[in-house]
Amino acid sequence: MAKVVRVCFAFDVDGRSLTEAKRRQGITMSPEMVKTLAEDQSIMFDRVLDFFASTGLRQTFFVTGKVAEDEPERMASALAAGHEIAFHGYSHMPLCHLSDAAEADEFDRTSDYFREKFGVRLLGMRAPSYSFGPRTPGNMRRSGMIYDSSAIDSVHPRFVPAGEAGYWEIPVRPEVDDWLHCVRLPELGYHAPIKSPDEVLAIYCDSFDRCYREAGCFVTVWHPFVTMSDRYRSVAPDLLHHIRQFDGVVFCTMQEIAAACEADLIPACSAGAAGRM
Ligand SMILES: [Zn+2]
Repeated sequence: MAKVVRVCFAFDVDGRSLTEAKRRQGITMSPEMVKTLAEDQSIMFDRVLDFFASTGLRQTFFVTGKVAEDEPERMASALAAGHEIAFHGYSHMPLCHLSDAAEADEFDRTSDYFREKFGVRLLGMRAPSYSFGPRTPGNMRRSGMIYDSSAIDSVHPRFVPAGEAGYWEIPVRPEVDDWLHCVRLPELGYHAPIKSPDEVLAIYCDSFDRCYREAGCFVTVWHPFVTMSDRYRSVAPDLLHHIRQFDGVVFCTMQEIAAACEADLIPACSAGAAGRM
């Protein structure tokens, strides 16, 4: 079988919900950061849509329920353009810090909103701050979700049995998270100096090259206010140019990656699929 490497430039859209969640956790953002995060869900989100439109990509946004409620027209634009919207919590509070009822409510409020407002079922998730907890698979199943992308350990999707069913884990590698390289925010634990756009591009290109050699799935953890900022805006198109030089690359949404896993089209999934019996 010819090699196929699936790629998704996935964005997490936290916006104002991140400001509010951090405030609830006792962390006050600077006024400048509050403004930046407000733009994350508005003008920076628009930049992502424009970038995807100009390059012909249909990709996945992991959006909090709060952001979606704030920005219904932008959600409608993203859906109309063929992008997938997936679950990123309702409030962006870490799921594992919540009570049983509060975690369930995060799923219900967000899933209900998308179903009632847009007639869309959310098929997958990425936990806020990678906070996937022991109750999360049960909430996913109840909400009809089939994949998660919160694990940071691999480029090979796998089936994770959970209860009577299970879900596809579509993991990422840590170096594809733009916060790691482009955000210095000591109050949130990001102390390292930010890297130059060239350095960031080189890290992403190396990560993709390794993923390609391993025939994995290359999935990003990007944020509109970071990767679409004036400083870093050239990185995504430059990475796209790099990736498009390789044979057998398919850009797709996360739900399409999950569907390919389900259909056994991704070789690394075969063992996992067999393990479901
Ligand atoms: Zn987030």
